Amino acid sequence: MLEIVPLGGLGEFGMNMLALSWGDTTIVVDAGVMFPDPELLGVDRIIPDTTYLQQKGRVAALVLTHGHEDHIGGVAHIVPLVDGPVYGTPLTLALVAPKLEEHGVEHALVPVRPRDRVTIGPFDVEFIRVTHSMPDCVALAIHTPVGVIVHTGDFKVDQTPIDGEHLDVHRFAELGSKGVLALFADSTNIDRRGFTGSELEVVEAFEEIFTSVRGKLIVAAFASSIFRMQILVDLAAQFDRKVAFVGRGMIQNSEIAIRLGHLKIPAGTQIKDADVPTFPAQDVLCLSTGSQGEPAAALSRIAIDDHRYVKVGEDDTVVISARAIPGNEKAIGRVINHLGRRGADVIHEGIKHVHVSGHGSEEELKLMLSLVRPRFFVPVHGEYRQLSQHARVAKRVFAGRDPRPEILLAEDGDVIVFDDAGGRIAGKAPVGRVLIDDTRTGEVGDEVLRDRRHLAEDGLVVPVVAINKQTGALEGVPDIITRGFVMEDGQALLADGARLLSDVVAQASLEERTDQGLIKEKLRVELRRFFRKRSGRRPFVLPVIMEI
Ligand SMILES: [Zn+2]
Ligand SMILES: [Zn+2]
Repeated sequence: MLEIVPLGGLGEFGMNMLALSWGDTTIVVDAGVMFPDPELLGVDRIIPDTTYLQQKGRVAALVLTHGHEDHIGGVAHIVPLVDGPVYGTPLTLALVAPKLEEHGVEHALVPVRPRDRVTIGPFDVEFIRVTHSMPDCVALAIHTPVGVIVHTGDFKVDQTPIDGEHLDVHRFAELGSKGVLALFADSTNIDRRGFTGSELEVVEAFEEIFTSVRGKLIVAAFASSIFRMQILVDLAAQFDRKVAFVGRGMIQNSEIAIRLGHLKIPAGTQIKDADVPTFPAQDVLCLSTGSQGEPAAALSRIAIDDHRYVKVGEDDTVVISARAIPGNEKAIGRVINHLGRRGADVIHEGIKHVHVSGHGSEEELKLMLSLVRPRFFVPVHGEYRQLSQHARVAKRVFAGRDPRPEILLAEDGDVIVFDDAGGRIAGKAPVGRVLIDDTRTGEVGDEVLRDRRHLAEDGLVVPVVAINKQTGALEGVPDIITRGFVMEDGQALLADGARLLSDVVAQASLEERTDQGLIKEKLRVELRRFFRKRSGRRPFVLPVIMEI
């Protein structure tokens, strides 16, 4: 009996993870993270709960489809449960390696190529090329004793892929004609009609931008958008601009992509971020992190004139070349306001076609269904409304077919069973979310327990600061509320803490003081450092700002 359990990604966007078991062999497909609501301070990332995997015993292998955070961001937390290797394409594994290093975890990483097959106990896992918004992405055909399971991973049908590697339509069709037991397919963009379009579609808008901008050009994108980087590097070379990668993720990923040959930079085009000030503004293109308004990322620092190397002013243009992940709109809006105050022109998706999605729209998802024509269809990757819409579309695709594929609308934790009698949802496995605070890396073990222990031992500190919305001035004396945080000299410590809060606010720039996201982050970092130094403890710090 084949048992498949989605542990994340069904009923939400992000933290994709799927477990497949036959007998006592369990394999896991992807180990992603979800980024929390920016208001959930103290939490850096969210990963799926692993209780089910622990119940299953050991995991025989972890198989990765591609290198986006919502598929690999949790790898370092999952590999302690995995006995066998982590399989992935070279780029995917190159993006995983620094994560393991950061967490001090060592694990065998085995590179695979499209059309490779690896045997893991009763499973035979085959890798199939798909196109997406980054290179080296694969879907999986998992050959099991009851039939073939096709998992698309994330994909769109890019007919003009920048790296010349097309979606392997042939193999999907071949599998479909031989018979596929079940298809698990990406539902992210099922709400969009037609086709998503090629990565190349943004070239036109950027050509216009390169032609018209007189000053510095700063483009913020996801650090994983390697195709976007290539397009911009080529345009920079064509328009005689030097390219600087700005922000840790951009610098790290561009180095990896260059090393593996996925990013080609003409000689003499690239400069270091530190060299940006030495070039005339009109000769520079900065590729920057911070497209989601993250307070600590490069674009936020640039926007409040607090970046070491990159300044922005009149005549300069900032392009936000990414979709706003739901929940981040406010933070992005704040960054755009700050950039506006600096006099910069800001271009985003709503103004020009500077972003194209990596996920297939309705017609591409229909194409996948008709190629694979499975006996069972399970929509994955999306909230319930995307999953159910994908199910409705599949019904239309197969309306005239006999027998019609059966649709299993599953959510996280549903135990999907396939045997000789067919497929069905048969029970519920434990699922949930684990909140991770990255400042405490190095500790292993159950993250939930650890966080609870953390709260129990070190307590909770809530600084309350009132700030005048117009002047940015501090109103009254900051207050610090604590729970479970008991110290000798507690009163004196809290009085010093309150003084520190006043100092931090006084020393912040006006823009930081009137930006909730920035000032909260600043207070959190400073207060955490203060408590660690003075008390040796690490309480959760959750700042509350009252705008008066
Ligand atoms: Zn992806
Ligand atoms: Zn994804």
